[in-house]
Amino acid sequence: MVERTPFRTGDQALVREINLSLIMKRLHAHAPVSRAALAAMTGLNKSTVSSLVNELIERRFVHEIGVVSTGVGRPSVQLTVNPQAGYVVSMEIGVGYIGALCTDFTANRLWASREHTVPGAPQQTVLDQLLQLIRNTIQQGQQAMPGQRLLGIAIGVPGLVKQSDGTLLFAPNLGWREVPLCALLQDAFPDAPIFVDNEANMAALGEYFFGAAQDHGDVLYISAGVGLGGAIVRGGQLMRGASGLAGEFGHMTLYPDGALCKCGNRGCWETEVSTAAVERHVRKAISQGQPTLLQPGNLTLEGVIEAARNGDPVAQTALGNVGRELGVGIASLVNALNPDLVVFGGTLSAASDFLLPTIRRELHERALEWDAAAVRVVAAEQGSQACTMGGVALVYQTILSQPGSSGQPGGRGALLLNQPMV
Ligand SMILES: [Zn+2]
Repeated sequence: MVERTPFRTGDQALVREINLSLIMKRLHAHAPVSRAALAAMTGLNKSTVSSLVNELIERRFVHEIGVVSTGVGRPSVQLTVNPQAGYVVSMEIGVGYIGALCTDFTANRLWASREHTVPGAPQQTVLDQLLQLIRNTIQQGQQAMPGQRLLGIAIGVPGLVKQSDGTLLFAPNLGWREVPLCALLQDAFPDAPIFVDNEANMAALGEYFFGAAQDHGDVLYISAGVGLGGAIVRGGQLMRGASGLAGEFGHMTLYPDGALCKCGNRGCWETEVSTAAVERHVRKAISQGQPTLLQPGNLTLEGVIEAARNGDPVAQTALGNVGRELGVGIASLVNALNPDLVVFGGTLSAASDFLLPTIRRELHERALEWDAAAVRVVAAEQGSQACTMGGVALVYQTILSQPGSSGQPGGRGALLLNQPMV
């Protein structure tokens, strides 16, 4: 009797998932394309491409749009992503705001919004605001695509998410612990597949599908703003770790006797790399009497960036200091992970003009020369919509990966994915 290894099926499922993602990514970037062109672009053989494309057509994610003669060989049937396959709702709970995005299946924006949340508002107030904004966003999707279905609701959060049930375990900068977000949303929207993930994971996936990291195999994503998060995308897959918590680079101890972090530890990387750290440097310089255009009572990141552009030495030094700390941490991560691309996103990436040169300098001074030579550091392309665009990518990827599953067991609405798309 032949002994079966339990890993075999998982491997094949993973390969299929990666190949489907690859085909969808190429279709997104290059449609209309033929099956033969897809085979050439992906390196997959033609029969594999044909079988995967047929599956995508059957599920109405892709359709044929006619025959094109190239003058060489047989005319070929062209394929494109079907925008009418359904709409996606993607949300971000940020520190001080909630973002919303609705797209069609080609990730074209149908509607977007960003609402402020009241500073220090109780958790329930923010959750009620989130639910109302989701309802509005669904309504926008229904109006834009009458009769089409909701493919999924993705929620990005600035904290640790338990992947098995979509519970937000801890969001230090919101002060939230143990919020069963997936379950709460599933109760409110019982028919929709729900996806809850860390905002940096989502943003990284968004950059991989739609932004700066397309066509890169080993991507390190760093997101800096109120806090510092990150994610790793390898071969199109998020590296999640044993419990789905991988990528919390902001809480690496870089300064053992440093400042107290909101996570309870001392000297986490994010204590020196955040919007608060920029402010702290500026305030210190002002208190030392250094000449500057900046007013201590009215400090904003935008104000500091503008002052730096106008040559203000205090603003430039503050951004330089934070850029240096960013570069120090990134150099270590590059040594550890050997990525071919580092994408820098989050609120602080608005200061990329000032931060990127410093990050690159530190990287080349500190990382092993082979690691440093193999990697490029670039700014994220999706800006303030990085997380929500990533949510669209997450819904996408999960739909493609498992026709009958949402990825998170809490997602009852995932059963919808088994139904034919009418
Ligand atoms: Zn920490």
